[in-house]
Amino acid sequence: MRISINPYTGKRLFEFTPLTSEQLNKKISNADHTYRTWKKTTFEHRAALIRNVAKILKDKKHKYATIITQEMGKPISQAVAEIEKCAWVCEYYAENAAHQLKDEIIETDALKSYVRYEPLGGILAIMPWNYPFWQVFRFAVPNLMAGNVGLLKHASNVMKCGDSIDAIFLEAGFPKGCFQNLVIDSEKVKSVIENDLVKAVTLTGSTPAGASVASLAGMKIKKSVLELGGSNALVVFDDADLEETVKTCVQARFQNTGQSCIAGKRLLLQRGIAKDFTNRFILEVQKLKAGDPMDKNTYIGVLAREDLSKDLEALVDKSVKMGAKLIAGGHREKTFFEPTVLTGVTKEMPIFTEETFGPVIGITIFDDEQSAVELSNASDFGLGASIFTSDMDRVERLVPQFDEGAVFVNELVKSDPRLPFGGVKISGYGRELSYHGIKEFMNRKTVYIK
Ligand code: NDP
Repeated sequence: MRISINPYTGKRLFEFTPLTSEQLNKKISNADHTYRTWKKTTFEHRAALIRNVAKILKDKKHKYATIITQEMGKPISQAVAEIEKCAWVCEYYAENAAHQLKDEIIETDALKSYVRYEPLGGILAIMPWNYPFWQVFRFAVPNLMAGNVGLLKHASNVMKCGDSIDAIFLEAGFPKGCFQNLVIDSEKVKSVIENDLVKAVTLTGSTPAGASVASLAGMKIKKSVLELGGSNALVVFDDADLEETVKTCVQARFQNTGQSCIAGKRLLLQRGIAKDFTNRFILEVQKLKAGDPMDKNTYIGVLAREDLSKDLEALVDKSVKMGAKLIAGGHREKTFFEPTVLTGVTKEMPIFTEETFGPVIGITIFDDEQSAVELSNASDFGLGASIFTSDMDRVERLVPQFDEGAVFVNELVKSDPRLPFGGVKISGYGRELSYHGIKEFMNRKTVYIK
């Protein structure tokens, strides 16, 4: 039995009975059966259905936002914003998919040679709880527009979100089998990947989960895309606009109660502004309103599960034992974690080396550009980094030196349907969103006519 528990109230919310192997196989064959006709539909037809999805999301955003907030503790106003963003990705691909997937003519000695983009079939998506609608939509929308069909294995604490998304696609008019939520434990994922009717897999989540799923896919020569989190640096130089940068850095770290793969998790400050910046930063952090996630004024909710909160506390405690100084927050009670700031953080400490998935930030001071880059790159993760500076020559010099999937300048790293999203190093591989994302699970068929 999969049970959703409200992490703020501790109350049981929903129960879901896992699928039997027989039910699971039936859903996978339904997906394949639907795929055979779905892949022949026109872009116009798919776009019309995706626009219906956008409309349903916008019309019922409070209903879906409430489910998110109840299941994983995200403050309600941020949950509403998540639903609105899902509608945006629908509109983006409804508008752009046909153009992005049109035949690509390549001049050769042939009469005509080109690349034709063809869908693969059933794609399994293993998704996490931190953006329980957005993570699913950014996979599902481009893939459905491309002619693939989706099978979702959602995180076990947000099964109602998975169930609701399944219902949204049906309500929008998608054929049954185009997008299905599978109520299964992660142990069952192996049998889904091994099923011949499933052609590829994408996972967003932790590194161990990604390694396990990619190995299974590799054994069956199936493509995988992995988005495995990060430990982004926020690199602030002396010449940055301090007032703006403080606000952006607070948002980069503390939105979604710190549970975001692209959150700025390591604050690197140039020595000249370090003291002033830290003081201003703490003042802003102390203004963040913590409380009931259902209150629209709440900014800091609770962590999605108590084990995540305990793990985070252990990272902080260990770093303090190694010499970091706690200068704000530090208090934890069940799933609530007070916004916490540490200074004197070195690159050996766990809050520097590991992914801190909650409202905790460590500050490290640097002297010059090269040490800033070295510190930022001294992480196994490589999802993104933000640089704050008013010197555009410096930007040109530094951007190529960051080992990251993205570098944002004077802005927090964010996902946007128009831009590719993904990492390097243990943050994973492959790209989601933009025209890059829609091509990940396609056969790029080369055609040569003499
Ligand atoms: P997991 O990686 O365990 O969960 C993410 C998804 O993967 C869930 O659907 C989960 O299912 C599934 N899963 C887990 N293990 C396997 C496996 N071996 N085979 C197949 N599927 C699997 O993350 P946690 O929820 O435990 O969070 C732990 C840490 O992971 C966080 O603290 C954070 O550092 C990182 N994380 C990163 C995210 C990101 O956005 N990149 C999102 C969430 C977590 P089930 O729930 O049933 O176990």
